[in-house]
Amino acid sequence: MPYEIDKPEDQWRAELTPQEYHVLREAGTERAFTGEYTDTKIAGVYSCRACGAELFRSETKFESHCGWPSFYDPADSSAVELIEDRSHGMVRTEVRCARCGSHLGHVFAGEGYPTPTDQRYCINSISLRLEPQED
Ligand SMILES: [Zn+2]
Repeated sequence: MPYEIDKPEDQWRAELTPQEYHVLREAGTERAFTGEYTDTKIAGVYSCRACGAELFRSETKFESHCGWPSFYDPADSSAVELIEDRSHGMVRTEVRCARCGSHLGHVFAGEGYPTPTDQRYCINSISLRLEPQED
C-alpha cells in the first residue's frame, strides 16, 4: 500500500541530513543516550521529522532509562504503522510513520513499566521533531 507521502529516495536524501536519512529511510538506530530528546520533559507534540505528521505527545513520554525517548502510546493509533521485524536475529515490532513510511523505532510490550499500556515505543530522537506547547 503506498504511503500518503511517497517520495523517491534521492529526494529524501536531499531533504534530510545524512544522519536523519540513515535512521528514517534505512531503519538505522541512533546510539543510546545520544539523542536530543532522550530526557526531554518539555510539554509538546512530537512530529515525524521526515513529513511532519503528529506522532506522539509529551503526556505519554516516560522515563524508561533505555537510552531513547520512550512513549507508552502514540497520539493516535493510526499515526503509526507496526511491522514485524526479523532483522538482527530477533523478532521485534518496527514502528513507522503511517503517513510517509519512515522508520521511527520499535515497540516492546510486557516489560513491566508502570504505564497504562505496558508498552514502550522506543523511538529515535532524530526521527522526531518536538514542537513545544505554547501557553
Ligand atoms: Zn512521516
